Amino acid sequence: MSVINRINVLRGDITKLTTVDAIVNAANESLLGGGGVDGQIHKTAGPGLLEECRKLNGCRTGEAKLTKGYNLPSKYVIHTVGPRYSSSRREELLRNAYRSSLECAHENSIHSIAFPSISTGIYGYPIEEASEVALKTVRDFLETHKETSVTFVLFSEPDLYIYQDEFKRIFG
Ligand code: ADP
Repeated sequence: MSVINRINVLRGDITKLTTVDAIVNAANESLLGGGGVDGQIHKTAGPGLLEECRKLNGCRTGEAKLTKGYNLPSKYVIHTVGPRYSSSRREELLRNAYRSSLECAHENSIHSIAFPSISTGIYGYPIEEASEVALKTVRDFLETHKETSVTFVLFSEPDLYIYQDEFKRIFG
């Protein structure tokens, strides 16, 4: 299947997604929970997730770590940390967050993954800029990993439209 058929963009709550093996958490470096999608993931997964996260010793910005999904519909959670928009290396670090998550999935034989829009909430990255980094990084990975498929889950309708526009710009 071509790359374009292995990328889905939809609106929804990532914690309710039943069709993927792993969801990605836009976490912070502590991995001990936070607001936004991170808070919702911990709330839905239950206390087992926090217990496992405590043993991981945090996660650097741009890196990714795997846990089980506990009470979530997905079997796994891949925790990654995106940059704050104020970081001078924001674009490189955002690319790294997507790539590390995809590599983490690949290393653990996980072939279907869902991403939220990393860094575009509390971390302040404009979604118009972030969506280009997200889609291009995923496209490049999928070109060399034919078994993998990716779903982008956008929480609001405006965010969905921005991703759909960027998708059209990149894939024509
Ligand atoms: P960050 O700290 O990386 O900016 P946030 O969680 O604050 O992370 O926001 C990242 C994106 O996740 C935002 O676009 C926010 O609207 C979105 N989001 C929040 N809750 C959910 C959810 N349950 N499912 C999917 N996306 C969500």
